[in-house]
Amino acid sequence: MSTVVNFVCSPEEAKDSNYLEQRIRKELTLDAQTQLEFRWRKRSIDARQRQIKVNASFDVAVNTVLAPRFEDQEFKLLAPDAPVVHIIGAGPAGLFAALQAVTQGLKPIVFERGKDVRARRRDLAKLTKAHELNPESNYCFGEGGAGTYSDGKLYTRSKKRGDVQKVLEWLVQFGAKADILIDAHPHIGTNKLPQLIEAIREQIIDSGGEIHFGHKLTDIEISNGQIVQIQINHTQHISVSKLILATGHSARDIFELLRRKKIEIKAKPFALGVRVEHTQTYIDGLQYHGRLSDDYLPPASYSLVTQVENRGVYSFCMCPGGIIAPCATADGEVVTNGWSPSKRNNIYANSGIVVGIEPSDFKNENDPFVCLDFQKEIENRCWQAAGQTQKVPAQGLADFVNGTISTAFPRSSYQPGIVSVNLKEIFPAFVYKRLRQAFLDFDKKMPGFITNDAVVHAPESRTSSPVLIPRDPISFQHTQIANLYPIAEGAGYAGGIVSAAIDGLNCVEKIAQTLVNL
Ligand SMILES: Cc1cc2nc3c(=O)[nH]c(=O)nc-3n(C[C@H](O)[C@H](O)[C@H](O)COP(=O)(O)OP(=O)(O)OC[C@H]3O[C@@H](n4cnc5c(N)ncnc54)[C@H](O)[C@@H]3O)c2cc1C
Repeated sequence: MSTVVNFVCSPEEAKDSNYLEQRIRKELTLDAQTQLEFRWRKRSIDARQRQIKVNASFDVAVNTVLAPRFEDQEFKLLAPDAPVVHIIGAGPAGLFAALQAVTQGLKPIVFERGKDVRARRRDLAKLTKAHELNPESNYCFGEGGAGTYSDGKLYTRSKKRGDVQKVLEWLVQFGAKADILIDAHPHIGTNKLPQLIEAIREQIIDSGGEIHFGHKLTDIEISNGQIVQIQINHTQHISVSKLILATGHSARDIFELLRRKKIEIKAKPFALGVRVEHTQTYIDGLQYHGRLSDDYLPPASYSLVTQVENRGVYSFCMCPGGIIAPCATADGEVVTNGWSPSKRNNIYANSGIVVGIEPSDFKNENDPFVCLDFQKEIENRCWQAAGQTQKVPAQGLADFVNGTISTAFPRSSYQPGIVSVNLKEIFPAFVYKRLRQAFLDFDKKMPGFITNDAVVHAPESRTSSPVLIPRDPISFQHTQIANLYPIAEGAGYAGGIVSAAIDGLNCVEKIAQTLVNL
């Protein structure tokens, strides 16, 4: 018999396999002699009450063996005459689109402006230590995309469970721990992601696909409403029949290219604000009622949301045990985001706190670049205010709320450095006032959240795309250019690693259907 057993236990019991076996036997009224196999199915921590609990769910096999969690996907060798799909960008969307192409018998040819994961790491070190920014190889550009040096959080608001499961299973197949299939809030960690991305690349190439690094899309040629040719690095010209644009939302030159070519794009609401950093022990104490994370309890996280003057203000991409990273992609700007290693064992806990920004917040709301221009302006103001390097403006959280400049900072994980600035002077009032009120609301939900022991870093500005590239919701084709497939975060259809990967999978499935129907 195979069955599922659910119960609630303490964090210590959840780590004790003897306890778990006895408990499962008790739940199923099995004696000690009956043959039993079990494994975790789902796991979540409930820290709402002082008595912290683990909601535990197990797959159990009685007098039989457990079936494998899932069947590995087979990636066959492509036929020499397989139809070609060109993919721009090797982020989660581009890589999963390429893998899906292989499963559908299509040959993916991927062009990525940045470097492979290993070479990219050297550019990140230069950025962090020497403030030297490579506009083609940084935290957002390069193999694996923006998700490579991240916390690798894999939860998504996507409702399509089947698709989410498929992405997680493929990640396990390429080297992620099976825990990501179990945990309610799975994550991989910066130290584990690069190997996984290399394994995906090797699979794509072994199957007959191609990935070209240092290959930037610089122009497109349109004829009779179709893209007929693309230009790479201003010199190389390649004919295309299906072009997937998976360039992420930091590729501003792509938005400019589309505008220049009179390809329809629209302004899109996005979110912008700051990244706040407490110590992890402080957040543990608040979330675990005075207890600290240990062998039984992971570093605590939080998720906060409020409404201020009819606008959502919320925590974004919270990184327990993490670091704040310099995520600019061009000179003249500073940008923050966060990452964590797999063990989440850094001493800091950081999170974006962001306000929804609407095109209607501005006079020229019909300009497709209205939100993008605002995003750029804030990033540039922060760069100016912090001394035109990769240092960022910062303020103690209590000082931010009081509107007073900070005279001293306890600490910051942001390695390029921080400069004391009154952030009230950086953000327009409609942003600052909402952030301020949101912090006051959050302090009611998590008493103690506001403290000058927490440091506010600015800006958190690359939350989602400020530009939409419109497409048909069923076919994924651009509304004007039939063989252009704008996907994932850069086009405005995803927010995060998993949803970007899902968009890549689904787009290629649609392309494959059209090719079969020809
Ligand atoms: C530091 C950091 C931490 C993050 N943490 C998380 C997290 O924990 N969980 C989560 O879900 N999300 C996280 N995110 C967001 C996540 O990385 C993105 O949502 C996701 O990567 C979007 O995938 P994508 O494929 O649409 O675009 P991207 O990942 O942005 O990939 C686009 C790719 O296209 C390439 N490209 C751009 N222009 C061109 C061109 N002209 N020619 C060729 N190539 C081009 C870029 O170099 C890039 O590699 C984080 C982001 C950052 C920066």
